[in-house]
Amino acid sequence: MTYHRLTVKLIVAFTAAVLIPGIVLGIIAARALRHEESYLEGRLEDTLRVEVDGSVELIQSEIAAIGQKLDDGLRFAGGENPRDVLRAWQKGSTLVEFPFLVSRDNRLLWPAAEAKISPEEDAFLASNRGFLTGESTILAFENVALLPDQSPDTVARAPASAAPVPPAKKAEEVDLRKALAGQGLKDKVAVARFRGDEAVQSRLYEQAEQEEKQVLQRNVLPRQEGADDAVQDRSILVAEPLDFAGITSGAAAGFIPRLTGKKLELFFWKRVEPGGEIAGCQVNLERFTEMILTALPVPYSATRLLTVLDQNGEPLLDPLEDKTARDWKRPFFSREIGEVLPRWEVAAYLVDPTGLAGRARLRSLVTGVLIALLLVAILLGGFLVFRAVSQEMALAQQKTTFAANVSHELKTPLTSIRIFAEMLEKGRQPSREKQEQYLKTIVSESKRLSRLINTVLDFSLIERGEKIYHKLETDLAEVVRQVMEKLTGRLEERGFVVRIRAPRRPVRVSADPEALEQVLVNLVANAEKYSDARREIEIEVAEEGERARVTVRDRGIGVPAGAARKIFKKFYRADDRLTSRVKGTGLGLTIARAIMQEHDGDLLYSPREGGGSCFSFDLPLL
Ligand code: ADP
Repeated sequence: MTYHRLTVKLIVAFTAAVLIPGIVLGIIAARALRHEESYLEGRLEDTLRVEVDGSVELIQSEIAAIGQKLDDGLRFAGGENPRDVLRAWQKGSTLVEFPFLVSRDNRLLWPAAEAKISPEEDAFLASNRGFLTGESTILAFENVALLPDQSPDTVARAPASAAPVPPAKKAEEVDLRKALAGQGLKDKVAVARFRGDEAVQSRLYEQAEQEEKQVLQRNVLPRQEGADDAVQDRSILVAEPLDFAGITSGAAAGFIPRLTGKKLELFFWKRVEPGGEIAGCQVNLERFTEMILTALPVPYSATRLLTVLDQNGEPLLDPLEDKTARDWKRPFFSREIGEVLPRWEVAAYLVDPTGLAGRARLRSLVTGVLIALLLVAILLGGFLVFRAVSQEMALAQQKTTFAANVSHELKTPLTSIRIFAEMLEKGRQPSREKQEQYLKTIVSESKRLSRLINTVLDFSLIERGEKIYHKLETDLAEVVRQVMEKLTGRLEERGFVVRIRAPRRPVRVSADPEALEQVLVNLVANAEKYSDARREIEIEVAEEGERARVTVRDRGIGVPAGAARKIFKKFYRADDRLTSRVKGTGLGLTIARAIMQEHDGDLLYSPREGGGSCFSFDLPLL
């Protein structure tokens, strides 16, 4: 009972201290590993996001600086021939390609139709006259994030007195740099808010659509921009067709991109005071590109490369010159530059995209294997401890039973010896026959006592490795015959049929005859003890090649399946009704096997066909 309670406690402790923590640890580790790859990518993305955003800002301020330079280069003092001023402007800057001047009422003052103009200027006029004179419109681009947000909460938060539309500033007041860059602090906040909030995004895109603005698609498909692809593919720029006056109203100067098919043209314009004419030029895009590319930070490092993609998604700069190898439309991370350069993006790529995943996977694999090994070690260690402890507990239990059994075995013969001796002492039994019978009982009970004590002593000698054997040249068949001569009478009295088969010629072995006798007596005693109704004992001596073998067979209860190996363990007694009725120490077979192993042999058990047991021991022939 206590043994069972201890086992239950042990199982509970093992489960609580080893099994559950091990499994939980395993699950946690597996989850952490699964996130390892995306974590690495996330960190890389953060780094590249900062870099790309920084580059976009640098390019924007470079654009503003270029605008400022163009503005500074064009000065009307009043009274001079505008044609001379424009020509001087063109000479002074490689950026100025085709200068123009438009009157307040949309007449093209320059290039004048009657003036001598080059074929290039002629082509410029052919394609842009309609737009400059307000006869046709072009797509004007606008940052959707900067649309006034008309969501209920934004409106509610605005102070009641605030005018819905700020009063148009006078032209001179407009800070050109800011206007050109389009990124004052407020605007930056608006863009950040737009990027971080999908609700704001869909609201503003919807608003733009309601205002009949066209929502554009981006050129690229960055794989690292959040989950909702549908939103990610939309450009931050929306477009609406506007004429020249519409585009230039409300500002003092600016850039106008014109996107026709795959081609981008860029114009710079400024309002000429006090007349209100608009002077401007088509910007030399090649030169312009060169200048903004110089604003880009180091485009190549060991892990990533940076470039600018044009309106067609083509890289303007290829640090590794491996254009064909890379899918430029799928950067690791990219951002649009802004209204001045619609569809242009600053994009970052991994130098070795497979390397990152490979490294992450390798790291996960190594860590995974380590964790698995550790878990196995924990579980195995726990299991071994569990097994060792339960074995010790079983042994302790067996020792207790052993002590009880031995005490009982000692007590029974001692009691009968005492009773019969007392009766003889007091002369209570005058019959001579009875007296002899009492004496016989006293002798046999003392023999039983000393056998038992010998067994226990033998066991402790063997355990300590101190048992000494006197090995002589011995005839095994003769030993068996002598032992059985002593035992057969008693066995037959008890209803056993005993059969002995041994060769007439000597079976010569080197052995301690007393030890051999002890083994055989033990086996025969067991055969007797563990036989029920069918009482047969068969002993066979045989030579098998180089070995001699003795087999003891009975028709008894046999050894329960699963206990065949255990019966040779010390103190072990099979759990059986008959076994529990028959007294024993659980040491007999342990000692017998130890003896046979000392004789370079072994003692084995096998179930007997038709019921019963079969024990056999062997040793080398001389
Ligand atoms: P003991 O007989 O004192 O219990 P042993 O070491 O001789 O100890 O035997 C160990 C156990 O092996 C016995 O308790 C019994 O269950 C089983 N056993 C041994 N011999 C036989 C046999 N001939 N038939 C059936 N069971 C046996």
